[in-house]
Amino acid sequence: MDLSELASLRSAPVAPAAHVIDGERRFASDTATLEVISPIDGQVLTTMPRGTADDAKAAISAARRAFDDGRWSDLAPAARKAVLLRWADLIEANALEIAVLGVRNNGTEIGMALKAEPLSAAATIRYYAEAADKVLGEIAPTSPATLALVHREPAGVVGAIVPWNFPLMIGAWKLGPALAAGCTVVLKPAETASLTLLRIAELALEAGLPAGVLNVVTGEGSVVGATIAESHDVDVLVFTGSGATGRQLLEASARSNLKRVYLELGGKSPNIVFADAPDLDEAAKVSAHGIFRNSGQVCIAGSRILVERSIHDAFVDKLAAVASAMTVGDPLDPSTGAGAINSLRQLEQNLRFVEEARQAGRRIVTGGKRILEDTGGYYMAPTIVADVHPDDRLAREEVFGPVLAILPFDSEDEAVAIANDTDYGLASAVWTSNLSRAHRMIRRIKAGIVHVNTYGGADLTVPLGGVKQSGNGHDKSLHAFDKYFDLKTAWIKL
Ligand code: ADP
Repeated sequence: MDLSELASLRSAPVAPAAHVIDGERRFASDTATLEVISPIDGQVLTTMPRGTADDAKAAISAARRAFDDGRWSDLAPAARKAVLLRWADLIEANALEIAVLGVRNNGTEIGMALKAEPLSAAATIRYYAEAADKVLGEIAPTSPATLALVHREPAGVVGAIVPWNFPLMIGAWKLGPALAAGCTVVLKPAETASLTLLRIAELALEAGLPAGVLNVVTGEGSVVGATIAESHDVDVLVFTGSGATGRQLLEASARSNLKRVYLELGGKSPNIVFADAPDLDEAAKVSAHGIFRNSGQVCIAGSRILVERSIHDAFVDKLAAVASAMTVGDPLDPSTGAGAINSLRQLEQNLRFVEEARQAGRRIVTGGKRILEDTGGYYMAPTIVADVHPDDRLAREEVFGPVLAILPFDSEDEAVAIANDTDYGLASAVWTSNLSRAHRMIRRIKAGIVHVNTYGGADLTVPLGGVKQSGNGHDKSLHAFDKYFDLKTAWIKL
Protein backbone atom coordinates (compact mmCIF):
# COMPACT_ATOMS: atom_id res chain seq x y z
CA MET A 1 0.00 0.00 0.00
CA ASP A 2 1.13 3.54 -0.76
CA LEU A 3 1.98 5.08 2.61
CA SER A 4 2.91 8.53 1.27
CA GLU A 5 -0.11 10.13 2.89
CA LEU A 6 0.91 8.93 6.35
CA ALA A 7 2.68 12.15 7.21
CA SER A 8 -0.30 14.38 6.50
CA LEU A 9 -2.84 11.98 8.01
CA ARG A 10 -0.94 11.68 11.27
CA SER A 11 -1.34 15.35 12.10
CA ALA A 12 -4.75 15.97 10.53
CA PRO A 13 -7.18 17.53 12.99
CA VAL A 14 -9.86 15.11 14.19
CA ALA A 15 -13.35 16.59 14.43
CA PRO A 16 -15.37 15.91 17.60
CA ALA A 17 -16.86 12.45 17.23
CA ALA A 18 -20.58 11.76 17.45
CA HIS A 19 -22.72 8.67 18.06
CA VAL A 20 -24.35 7.09 15.04
CA ILE A 21 -27.98 6.50 16.03
CA ASP A 22 -30.92 5.85 13.72
CA GLY A 23 -28.96 6.85 10.66
CA GLU A 24 -27.59 10.15 11.93
CA ARG A 25 -24.73 11.66 13.91
CA ARG A 26 -25.82 12.65 17.40
CA PHE A 27 -24.10 14.12 20.41
CA ALA A 28 -24.88 12.98 23.95
CA SER A 29 -28.37 13.86 25.20
CA ASP A 30 -26.79 16.07 27.87
CA THR A 31 -23.99 17.20 25.47
CA ALA A 32 -21.30 15.74 27.77
CA THR A 33 -18.07 14.64 26.12
CA LEU A 34 -15.05 12.51 26.95
CA GLU A 35 -11.55 13.55 25.92
CA VAL A 36 -9.88 11.13 23.56
CA ILE A 37 -6.22 10.89 24.62
CA SER A 38 -3.72 9.62 22.09
CA PRO A 39 -1.33 7.08 23.65
CA ILE A 40 1.30 8.23 21.13
CA ASP A 41 1.97 11.44 23.03
CA GLY A 42 -0.59 11.64 25.84
CA GLN A 43 -2.26 14.63 24.15
CA VAL A 44 -5.96 15.21 23.56
CA LEU A 45 -6.81 14.03 20.05
CA THR A 46 -10.48 15.03 20.01
CA THR A 47 -13.65 14.49 22.01
CA MET A 48 -16.45 12.00 21.76
CA PRO A 49 -19.88 11.79 23.36
CA ARG A 50 -19.99 10.63 26.94
CA GLY A 51 -23.10 8.60 26.18
CA THR A 52 -26.00 8.63 28.60
CA ALA A 53 -28.41 5.83 29.38
CA ASP A 54 -30.92 7.78 27.26
CA ASP A 55 -28.53 7.68 24.31
CA ALA A 56 -28.19 3.93 24.64
CA LYS A 57 -31.97 3.57 24.93
CA ALA A 58 -32.50 5.71 21.81
CA ALA A 59 -30.09 3.47 19.90
CA ILE A 60 -31.78 0.31 21.17
CA SER A 61 -35.23 1.67 20.20
CA ALA A 62 -33.92 2.54 16.74
CA ALA A 63 -32.47 -0.96 16.34
CA ARG A 64 -35.71 -2.51 17.63
CA ARG A 65 -37.84 -0.53 15.16
CA ALA A 66 -35.47 -1.29 12.31
CA PHE A 67 -35.61 -4.98 13.11
CA ASP A 68 -39.33 -5.23 13.69
CA ASP A 69 -40.39 -3.40 10.52
CA GLY A 70 -38.26 -5.71 8.40
CA ARG A 71 -36.35 -2.98 6.58
CA TRP A 72 -33.27 -5.20 6.86
CA SER A 73 -34.36 -8.57 8.21
CA ASP A 74 -36.98 -9.02 5.47
CA LEU A 75 -34.66 -8.15 2.59
CA ALA A 76 -33.61 -11.04 0.42
CA PRO A 77 -30.23 -12.21 1.73
CA ALA A 78 -28.69 -11.34 -1.64
CA ALA A 79 -29.87 -7.73 -1.18
CA ARG A 80 -28.21 -7.58 2.24
CA LYS A 81 -25.10 -9.03 0.66
CA ALA A 82 -24.95 -6.25 -1.92
CA VAL A 83 -25.05 -3.54 0.77
CA LEU A 84 -22.44 -5.29 2.92
CA LEU A 85 -20.11 -5.75 -0.06
CA ARG A 86 -20.37 -2.02 -0.85
CA TRP A 87 -19.57 -1.30 2.79
CA ALA A 88 -16.50 -3.55 2.70
CA ASP A 89 -15.33 -1.77 -0.47
CA LEU A 90 -15.70 1.64 1.19
CA ILE A 91 -13.74 0.53 4.24
CA GLU A 92 -11.00 -0.81 2.01
CA ALA A 93 -10.93 2.33 -0.13
CA ASN A 94 -10.40 4.42 3.01
CA ALA A 95 -8.14 1.90 4.76
CA LEU A 96 -5.11 4.09 5.33
CA GLU A 97 -7.10 7.01 6.70
CA ILE A 98 -9.04 4.67 9.00
CA ALA A 99 -5.93 2.83 10.12
CA VAL A 100 -4.10 6.05 11.00
CA LEU A 101 -7.11 7.33 12.93
CA GLY A 102 -7.20 4.04 14.80
CA VAL A 103 -3.49 4.13 15.59
CA ARG A 104 -3.76 7.69 16.91
CA ASN A 105 -6.61 6.45 19.08
CA ASN A 106 -5.23 3.15 20.39
CA GLY A 107 -1.48 3.01 19.72
CA THR A 108 -1.15 -0.18 17.65
CA GLU A 109 1.83 -0.15 15.28
CA ILE A 110 0.65 0.92 11.81
CA GLY A 111 1.95 -2.15 9.93
CA MET A 112 -0.22 -4.38 12.05
CA ALA A 113 -3.11 -1.92 12.33
CA LEU A 114 -3.56 -1.64 8.58
CA LYS A 115 -3.81 -5.38 8.09
CA ALA A 116 -5.58 -6.27 11.31
CA GLU A 117 -7.99 -3.38 11.40
CA PRO A 118 -9.61 -1.87 8.26
CA LEU A 119 -8.39 -4.52 5.86
CA SER A 120 -9.32 -7.36 8.17
CA ALA A 121 -12.70 -5.76 8.89
CA ALA A 122 -13.39 -5.41 5.17
CA ALA A 123 -12.41 -9.04 4.59
CA THR A 124 -14.62 -10.20 7.45
CA ILE A 125 -17.64 -8.23 6.28
CA ARG A 126 -17.10 -9.59 2.78
CA TYR A 127 -16.83 -13.16 4.05
CA TYR A 128 -20.18 -13.00 5.84
CA ALA A 129 -21.80 -10.98 3.05
CA GLU A 130 -20.85 -13.73 0.62
CA ALA A 131 -22.25 -16.35 2.98
CA ALA A 132 -25.54 -14.51 3.57
CA ASP A 133 -27.37 -16.22 0.72
CA LYS A 134 -25.77 -19.61 1.25
CA VAL A 135 -27.19 -20.43 4.67
CA LEU A 136 -29.92 -22.99 4.16
CA GLY A 137 -32.75 -24.27 6.32
CA GLU A 138 -33.50 -27.97 6.76
CA ILE A 139 -36.18 -30.50 5.98
CA ALA A 140 -36.21 -33.02 8.81
CA PRO A 141 -36.36 -36.78 8.11
CA THR A 142 -39.87 -37.32 9.47
CA SER A 143 -42.48 -39.86 8.41
CA PRO A 144 -44.17 -39.08 5.09
CA ALA A 145 -47.29 -37.95 6.96
CA THR A 146 -45.49 -34.85 8.10
CA LEU A 147 -43.37 -32.15 6.57
CA ALA A 148 -41.02 -30.64 9.15
CA LEU A 149 -39.02 -27.56 8.26
CA VAL A 150 -36.28 -25.97 10.30
CA HIS A 151 -36.06 -22.26 9.55
CA ARG A 152 -33.16 -20.04 10.51
CA GLU A 153 -34.46 -16.65 11.50
CA PRO A 154 -32.42 -13.60 12.43
CA ALA A 155 -32.29 -13.44 16.21
CA GLY A 156 -33.29 -9.78 16.54
CA VAL A 157 -31.46 -6.87 18.12
CA VAL A 158 -27.83 -7.59 18.91
CA GLY A 159 -25.90 -5.66 21.55
CA ALA A 160 -22.16 -5.77 20.81
CA ILE A 161 -19.65 -4.55 23.38
CA VAL A 162 -16.08 -4.54 22.12
CA PRO A 163 -12.61 -3.75 23.46
CA TRP A 164 -9.82 -1.40 22.49
CA ASN A 165 -7.04 -3.64 21.23
CA PHE A 166 -8.47 -4.41 17.76
CA PRO A 167 -11.74 -2.49 17.65
CA LEU A 168 -12.41 -2.98 13.94
CA MET A 169 -11.26 -6.57 13.62
CA ILE A 170 -13.21 -7.69 16.66
CA GLY A 171 -16.11 -5.35 15.86
CA ALA A 172 -16.35 -6.86 12.37
CA TRP A 173 -16.28 -10.39 13.80
CA LYS A 174 -19.59 -9.45 15.45
CA LEU A 175 -21.05 -7.06 12.86
CA GLY A 176 -20.34 -9.20 9.79
CA PRO A 177 -22.36 -12.28 10.76
CA ALA A 178 -24.98 -10.31 12.75
CA LEU A 179 -25.84 -8.01 9.85
CA ALA A 180 -25.54 -10.73 7.21
CA ALA A 181 -28.01 -12.81 9.25
CA GLY A 182 -30.48 -9.92 9.19
CA CYS A 183 -30.09 -8.72 12.77
CA THR A 184 -29.84 -5.07 13.76
CA VAL A 185 -27.08 -3.91 16.11
CA VAL A 186 -26.26 -1.49 18.89
CA LEU A 187 -22.52 -1.40 19.26
CA LYS A 188 -20.62 0.04 22.21
CA PRO A 189 -16.92 0.58 21.50
CA ALA A 190 -14.32 0.82 24.24
CA GLU A 191 -13.70 4.24 25.78
CA THR A 192 -10.14 4.32 24.40
CA ALA A 193 -10.87 3.06 20.88
CA SER A 194 -14.16 4.38 19.53
CA LEU A 195 -13.22 6.60 16.59
CA THR A 196 -12.77 4.03 13.85
CA LEU A 197 -15.97 2.17 14.69
CA LEU A 198 -17.88 5.45 14.42
CA ARG A 199 -16.15 6.09 11.12
CA ILE A 200 -17.09 2.74 9.61
CA ALA A 201 -20.68 3.13 10.87
CA GLU A 202 -20.85 6.33 8.82
CA LEU A 203 -19.49 4.44 5.82
CA ALA A 204 -22.19 1.80 6.33
CA LEU A 205 -24.83 4.48 5.83
CA GLU A 206 -23.04 5.60 2.69
CA ALA A 207 -23.11 2.00 1.46
CA GLY A 208 -26.88 1.95 1.83
CA LEU A 209 -27.38 0.26 5.19
CA PRO A 210 -30.84 1.45 6.27
CA ALA A 211 -31.08 3.84 9.23
CA GLY A 212 -31.24 2.14 12.62
CA VAL A 213 -29.70 -1.12 11.46
CA LEU A 214 -26.27 -0.29 12.89
CA ASN A 215 -26.06 2.13 15.81
CA VAL A 216 -22.83 3.02 17.60
CA VAL A 217 -22.98 4.65 21.03
CA THR A 218 -19.80 5.80 22.78
CA GLY A 219 -19.20 6.35 26.46
CA GLU A 220 -18.54 4.44 29.62
CA GLY A 221 -19.10 0.74 29.98
CA SER A 222 -20.85 1.20 33.29
CA VAL A 223 -23.42 3.50 31.66
CA VAL A 224 -23.82 2.73 27.96
CA GLY A 225 -22.66 -0.90 28.14
CA ALA A 226 -24.74 -1.61 31.23
CA THR A 227 -27.87 -0.09 29.65
CA ILE A 228 -27.47 -2.38 26.64
CA ALA A 229 -26.88 -5.39 28.89
CA GLU A 230 -29.98 -4.63 31.01
CA SER A 231 -32.28 -3.88 28.09
CA HIS A 232 -35.37 -5.97 27.48
CA ASP A 233 -35.18 -5.02 23.81
CA VAL A 234 -31.79 -6.58 23.16
CA ASP A 235 -32.08 -10.25 22.21
CA VAL A 236 -28.43 -11.28 21.95
CA LEU A 237 -25.39 -9.80 23.66
CA VAL A 238 -21.94 -10.43 22.22
CA PHE A 239 -18.86 -9.29 24.07
CA THR A 240 -15.10 -9.33 23.92
CA GLY A 241 -13.27 -8.03 27.00
CA SER A 242 -12.43 -8.86 30.57
CA GLY A 243 -13.82 -11.69 32.66
CA ALA A 244 -15.03 -9.26 35.30
CA THR A 245 -17.21 -7.42 32.79
CA GLY A 246 -18.32 -10.73 31.25
CA ARG A 247 -19.65 -11.81 34.63
CA GLN A 248 -21.60 -8.54 34.96
CA LEU A 249 -23.14 -9.08 31.55
CA LEU A 250 -24.37 -12.55 32.51
CA GLU A 251 -25.87 -11.10 35.68
CA ALA A 252 -27.53 -8.31 33.71
CA SER A 253 -29.03 -10.88 31.36
CA ALA A 254 -30.34 -12.88 34.31
CA ARG A 255 -31.85 -9.74 35.86
CA SER A 256 -33.50 -8.63 32.62
CA ASN A 257 -34.78 -10.74 29.73
CA LEU A 258 -32.39 -13.74 29.74
CA LYS A 259 -30.85 -12.52 26.51
CA ARG A 260 -28.26 -14.91 25.14
CA VAL A 261 -24.75 -13.79 26.13
CA TYR A 262 -21.63 -14.80 24.23
CA LEU A 263 -18.31 -13.97 25.83
CA GLU A 264 -14.83 -13.86 24.37
CA LEU A 265 -12.66 -13.22 27.41
CA GLY A 266 -9.01 -13.31 28.19
CA GLY A 267 -6.33 -15.94 28.16
CA LYS A 268 -3.04 -16.96 29.68
CA SER A 269 -2.14 -18.96 26.66
CA PRO A 270 0.63 -21.56 26.97
CA ASN A 271 3.17 -21.81 24.19
CA ILE A 272 5.08 -25.06 24.69
CA VAL A 273 8.52 -25.48 23.18
CA PHE A 274 9.95 -29.00 23.12
CA ALA A 275 13.63 -29.66 22.54
CA ASP A 276 12.69 -31.40 19.28
CA ALA A 277 11.12 -28.25 17.78
CA PRO A 278 11.97 -28.18 14.07
CA ASP A 279 13.79 -24.85 14.21
CA LEU A 280 14.46 -23.17 17.54
CA ASP A 281 15.43 -19.84 15.97
CA GLU A 282 12.11 -19.73 14.12
CA ALA A 283 10.29 -20.83 17.28
CA ALA A 284 11.91 -18.00 19.24
CA LYS A 285 11.14 -15.40 16.61
CA VAL A 286 7.50 -16.39 16.12
CA SER A 287 6.92 -16.92 19.84
CA ALA A 288 8.33 -13.49 20.70
CA HIS A 289 6.06 -11.91 18.12
CA GLY A 290 3.23 -14.01 19.52
CA ILE A 291 3.45 -12.03 22.73
CA PHE A 292 5.00 -8.70 21.82
CA ARG A 293 3.03 -7.63 18.73
CA ASN A 294 0.59 -4.87 19.56
CA SER A 295 2.53 -4.73 22.83
CA GLY A 296 0.90 -7.92 24.09
CA GLN A 297 -2.56 -6.37 23.85
CA VAL A 298 -3.92 -9.41 22.08
CA CYS A 299 -6.43 -11.83 23.59
CA ILE A 300 -4.65 -14.86 22.15
CA ALA A 301 -1.15 -13.61 23.11
CA GLY A 302 1.18 -16.47 24.01
CA SER A 303 1.94 -14.99 27.39
CA ARG A 304 3.31 -18.15 29.04
CA ILE A 305 6.16 -19.92 27.30
CA LEU A 306 6.88 -23.38 28.66
CA VAL A 307 10.35 -24.54 27.65
CA GLU A 308 11.80 -28.03 27.95
CA ARG A 309 14.59 -27.80 30.48
CA SER A 310 17.36 -29.16 28.23
CA ILE A 311 17.03 -26.15 25.90
CA HIS A 312 15.71 -23.68 28.46
CA ASP A 313 18.65 -21.33 28.85
CA ALA A 314 19.57 -21.27 25.17
CA PHE A 315 15.97 -20.66 24.17
CA VAL A 316 15.49 -17.84 26.66
CA ASP A 317 18.62 -16.22 25.19
CA LYS A 318 17.12 -16.46 21.71
CA LEU A 319 13.84 -14.95 22.89
CA ALA A 320 15.69 -12.15 24.64
CA ALA A 321 17.64 -11.40 21.47
CA VAL A 322 14.43 -11.07 19.45
CA ALA A 323 12.74 -8.98 22.15
CA SER A 324 15.68 -6.60 22.55
CA ALA A 325 15.94 -6.12 18.80
CA MET A 326 12.29 -5.07 18.52
CA THR A 327 11.86 -1.38 17.86
CA VAL A 328 9.30 0.06 20.20
CA GLY A 329 8.02 3.55 19.67
CA ASP A 330 6.07 5.79 17.34
CA PRO A 331 3.32 3.50 16.05
CA LEU A 332 2.96 5.64 12.91
CA ASP A 333 6.51 4.87 11.82
CA PRO A 334 6.15 1.84 9.52
CA SER A 335 9.43 0.39 10.81
CA THR A 336 8.15 0.19 14.38
CA GLY A 337 7.80 -3.34 15.74
CA ALA A 338 5.55 -2.49 18.69
CA GLY A 339 3.68 0.74 19.27
CA ALA A 340 2.18 2.33 22.36
CA ILE A 341 0.32 0.87 25.29
CA ASN A 342 -3.33 1.86 24.94
CA SER A 343 -3.64 3.89 28.13
CA LEU A 344 -1.71 5.06 31.15
CA ARG A 345 -3.90 2.83 33.32
CA GLN A 346 -2.90 -0.24 31.28
CA LEU A 347 0.78 0.73 31.31
CA GLU A 348 0.71 1.08 35.09
CA GLN A 349 -0.99 -2.30 35.42
CA ASN A 350 1.70 -3.92 33.26
CA LEU A 351 4.44 -2.38 35.38
CA ARG A 352 2.80 -3.60 38.60
CA PHE A 353 2.98 -7.19 37.35
CA VAL A 354 6.69 -6.79 36.62
CA GLU A 355 7.40 -5.15 39.95
CA GLU A 356 5.65 -7.95 41.80
CA ALA A 357 7.69 -10.57 39.92
CA ARG A 358 10.89 -8.63 40.65
CA GLN A 359 10.07 -8.48 44.35
CA ALA A 360 9.37 -12.22 44.39
CA GLY A 361 12.89 -12.78 43.06
CA ARG A 362 11.95 -13.76 39.51
CA ARG A 363 14.53 -13.01 36.83
CA ILE A 364 13.80 -10.03 34.57
CA VAL A 365 15.69 -11.17 31.49
CA THR A 366 14.99 -8.09 29.43
CA GLY A 367 12.81 -4.98 29.52
CA GLY A 368 10.70 -4.44 32.60
CA LYS A 369 10.29 -0.68 32.36
CA ARG A 370 8.50 2.24 30.83
CA ILE A 371 10.44 3.86 27.99
CA LEU A 372 10.27 7.00 25.84
CA GLU A 373 8.57 8.87 28.66
CA ASP A 374 9.74 12.20 27.22
CA THR A 375 7.35 11.73 24.30
CA GLY A 376 4.43 11.96 26.73
CA GLY A 377 3.24 8.63 25.26
CA TYR A 378 2.79 5.26 26.92
CA TYR A 379 5.54 2.87 25.88
CA MET A 380 6.96 -0.21 27.50
CA ALA A 381 9.98 -2.33 26.62
CA PRO A 382 9.19 -5.95 25.67
CA THR A 383 9.67 -7.77 28.95
CA ILE A 384 10.71 -11.35 29.63
CA VAL A 385 10.48 -12.79 33.13
CA ALA A 386 12.12 -16.19 33.68
CA ASP A 387 11.99 -18.68 36.56
CA VAL A 388 8.29 -17.94 37.00
CA HIS A 389 6.43 -20.37 39.28
CA PRO A 390 3.13 -21.87 38.11
CA ASP A 391 1.28 -20.27 41.02
CA ASP A 392 2.73 -16.75 40.54
CA ARG A 393 0.16 -14.13 39.58
CA LEU A 394 2.22 -13.60 36.42
CA ALA A 395 1.61 -17.25 35.46
CA ARG A 396 -2.11 -17.13 36.23
CA GLU A 397 -3.55 -13.70 35.41
CA GLU A 398 -3.76 -11.96 32.09
CA VAL A 399 -1.46 -8.93 31.93
CA PHE A 400 -2.60 -7.75 28.49
CA GLY A 401 0.76 -6.13 27.96
CA PRO A 402 4.25 -6.96 26.65
CA VAL A 403 5.17 -9.18 29.57
CA LEU A 404 6.18 -12.79 28.94
CA ALA A 405 6.40 -15.41 31.68
CA ILE A 406 8.76 -18.34 31.13
CA LEU A 407 8.42 -21.65 32.93
CA PRO A 408 10.61 -24.74 32.51
CA PHE A 409 9.30 -28.31 32.23
CA ASP A 410 10.86 -31.78 32.15
CA SER A 411 8.32 -34.06 30.47
CA GLU A 412 5.33 -34.03 28.16
CA ASP A 413 3.04 -34.85 31.09
CA GLU A 414 4.41 -31.98 33.11
CA ALA A 415 4.03 -29.60 30.17
CA VAL A 416 0.36 -30.58 29.84
CA ALA A 417 -0.21 -30.21 33.57
CA ILE A 418 1.30 -26.71 33.67
CA ALA A 419 -0.43 -25.67 30.44
CA ASN A 420 -3.86 -26.71 31.72
CA ASP A 421 -3.36 -25.38 35.24
CA THR A 422 -5.21 -22.15 34.45
CA ASP A 423 -8.70 -20.71 34.65
CA TYR A 424 -8.40 -19.83 30.98
CA GLY A 425 -8.53 -21.84 27.76
CA LEU A 426 -8.21 -19.60 24.74
CA ALA A 427 -5.08 -20.25 22.66
CA SER A 428 -1.97 -22.43 22.92
CA ALA A 429 0.90 -23.73 20.85
CA VAL A 430 3.22 -26.71 20.63
CA TRP A 431 6.57 -26.72 18.92
CA THR A 432 7.78 -30.24 18.08
CA SER A 433 8.87 -32.26 15.08
CA ASN A 434 7.28 -35.40 16.53
CA LEU A 435 3.95 -35.79 14.72
CA SER A 436 2.49 -38.18 17.29
CA ARG A 437 3.39 -35.85 20.12
CA ALA A 438 1.81 -32.93 18.27
CA HIS A 439 -1.48 -34.82 17.96
CA ARG A 440 -1.34 -35.99 21.57
CA MET A 441 -0.88 -32.40 22.68
CA ILE A 442 -3.72 -31.15 20.47
CA ARG A 443 -6.02 -33.59 22.28
CA ARG A 444 -4.71 -32.91 25.77
CA ILE A 445 -4.49 -29.12 25.86
CA LYS A 446 -7.72 -27.50 26.98
CA ALA A 447 -7.99 -24.47 24.72
CA GLY A 448 -9.99 -23.16 21.79
CA ILE A 449 -7.00 -23.27 19.47
CA VAL A 450 -3.76 -25.24 19.45
CA HIS A 451 -1.12 -23.95 17.07
CA VAL A 452 1.56 -26.39 15.96
CA ASN A 453 4.96 -25.03 15.00
CA THR A 454 3.60 -21.52 14.65
CA TYR A 455 1.74 -18.93 16.69
CA GLY A 456 -1.20 -16.81 15.59
CA GLY A 457 -2.41 -16.03 12.10
CA ALA A 458 -5.39 -18.40 11.96
CA ASP A 459 -7.61 -16.99 9.22
CA LEU A 460 -11.35 -16.32 8.97
CA THR A 461 -12.24 -19.85 7.96
CA VAL A 462 -11.74 -21.26 11.46
CA PRO A 463 -13.62 -20.49 14.68
CA LEU A 464 -12.10 -18.46 17.50
CA GLY A 465 -13.47 -19.03 20.95
CA GLY A 466 -12.43 -20.17 24.35
CA VAL A 467 -13.22 -22.84 26.90
CA LYS A 468 -13.30 -22.52 30.68
CA GLN A 469 -13.19 -18.87 31.77
CA SER A 470 -12.06 -17.71 28.33
CA GLY A 471 -15.69 -17.64 27.32
CA ASN A 472 -18.27 -19.35 25.15
CA GLY A 473 -19.42 -19.16 21.57
CA HIS A 474 -17.27 -18.46 18.54
CA ASP A 475 -16.25 -15.58 16.36
CA LYS A 476 -15.06 -16.18 12.76
CA SER A 477 -15.98 -19.04 10.41
CA LEU A 478 -19.54 -20.04 9.54
CA HIS A 479 -20.00 -21.17 13.16
CA ALA A 480 -20.22 -17.49 14.13
CA PHE A 481 -23.64 -17.39 12.45
CA ASP A 482 -25.08 -19.66 15.16
CA LYS A 483 -25.17 -16.75 17.58
CA TYR A 484 -27.29 -14.57 15.31
CA PHE A 485 -29.94 -17.04 14.13
CA ASP A 486 -32.83 -18.59 15.98
CA LEU A 487 -34.02 -22.00 14.84
CA LYS A 488 -37.75 -22.34 14.28
CA THR A 489 -39.49 -25.64 13.61
CA ALA A 490 -42.52 -25.85 11.37
CA TRP A 491 -44.32 -29.20 11.90
CA ILE A 492 -46.86 -29.65 9.14
CA LYS A 493 -49.38 -32.48 9.11
CA LEU A 494 -49.97 -33.44 5.51
P1 ADP B 1 -10.57 -3.92 29.57
O1 ADP B 1 -10.17 -4.11 31.00
O2 ADP B 1 -9.74 -4.63 28.61
O3 ADP B 1 -10.81 -2.48 29.20
P2 ADP B 1 -13.38 -4.30 29.84
O4 ADP B 1 -14.11 -5.59 29.99
O5 ADP B 1 -13.39 -3.35 30.98
O6 ADP B 1 -11.93 -4.71 29.42
O7 ADP B 1 -13.89 -3.51 28.57
C1 ADP B 1 -14.38 -4.10 27.40
C2 ADP B 1 -15.64 -3.39 26.98
O8 ADP B 1 -16.62 -3.57 27.99
C3 ADP B 1 -15.48 -1.87 26.82
O9 ADP B 1 -16.25 -1.44 25.71
C4 ADP B 1 -16.05 -1.33 28.11
O10 ADP B 1 -16.56 -0.03 27.99
C5 ADP B 1 -17.18 -2.32 28.35
N1 ADP B 1 -17.63 -2.39 29.75
C6 ADP B 1 -16.90 -2.18 30.87
N2 ADP B 1 -17.66 -2.32 31.97
C7 ADP B 1 -18.91 -2.63 31.56
C8 ADP B 1 -20.15 -2.91 32.21
N3 ADP B 1 -20.27 -2.88 33.52
N4 ADP B 1 -21.23 -3.20 31.45
C9 ADP B 1 -21.12 -3.24 30.11
N5 ADP B 1 -19.98 -2.99 29.43
C10 ADP B 1 -18.89 -2.67 30.13
